Amino acid sequence: MNLLDAIGNTPLVQLHNITKGTQAKICAKLEFTNPGGSIKDRISRYMVEKAEKEGKLQPGQTIIENSSGNTAMGLAIVARQKGYKLKIVIRDTTSKEKLKMLQVLGVDVIAVDASLPPEREDSYNNYAKNLAAKNPDLFYIDQHNNLNNNEAHYMTTGPEIWEQTKGKIDYFVAGIGTGGTICGVGRFLKEKNPNIKIIAVDPFGSIFYDYFKHKKLIEPYRYFIEGLGDEFLIKTAQFEYIDDMIKVTDKNSFEYAMKLAYEEGIIAGGSSGANIWGALQIAKDLDENKRIVTIFPDSGYKYFSTIYNEDWWKQHNNFAD
Ligand code: PMP
Repeated sequence: MNLLDAIGNTPLVQLHNITKGTQAKICAKLEFTNPGGSIKDRISRYMVEKAEKEGKLQPGQTIIENSSGNTAMGLAIVARQKGYKLKIVIRDTTSKEKLKMLQVLGVDVIAVDASLPPEREDSYNNYAKNLAAKNPDLFYIDQHNNLNNNEAHYMTTGPEIWEQTKGKIDYFVAGIGTGGTICGVGRFLKEKNPNIKIIAVDPFGSIFYDYFKHKKLIEPYRYFIEGLGDEFLIKTAQFEYIDDMIKVTDKNSFEYAMKLAYEEGIIAGGSSGANIWGALQIAKDLDENKRIVTIFPDSGYKYFSTIYNEDWWKQHNNFAD
């Protein structure tokens, strides 16, 4: 088997301990079992292969992308397997572990100041795009506006969930980062059964919730969950596939990631904490006949210096409100 063929077909497991006190069944798809350690392997492969087929990406070109770390890892694997070079723009708040992994894979990493206003030329959101516009040897993947991101989930994650649950699914709850996961899976599940409810989880500080609920663009502010939320509207956030959205705090996300470790033996990242917290909020109103599926996008091994480190909690005043 080729390494790239090992992407996807991840296990779906039922949770039994963290769910105590709720009636509904909650299942989680363990995306950290992908070869690059996250759900982003799926879109990395799909977006690159689509660009190759469409003739947009030529042999010898360098792929460039801005990523919270996981797409970078996924692209690194795809680039290594297919012989492309890779340049990645990350925020300087990205965990040390993710940075180290990229260095080990020989990726050219550019870390930008996460506190720069998003409209600045050299901000996280603009840097890769601007560099690619000036240099024809660079191919900008643009996961935030590339609908092949969503299509990757429509073609793989959605059908896997449908098969693994044999169609017995009532709610899909997942964090919204680019929106690729929730909108791609949401579109697939709704085509199969329009009664399935799609619920997005958005961090406090991100703009998505207020736009979804009130068409209002708030001033974004800083938060520490990696991989979720945004400061801008982006093309991959296709709100038409989302039924409702809930807000999550840094504290709830990190506490619930730790609870997953203590109670289920699953060492997962902060967005998995956000997702299980969200799923448990939805479960409160449901009976034992209902099933919620959620996603654990990446592993906790990438956050031992942050979420699983007491000193980091202290530095952030224990994420007190
Ligand atoms: N969790 C983590 C750790 C991520 O890196 C991402 C990707 N940004 C997500 C969740 C959200 O996935 P999506 O971009 O598909 O909305």
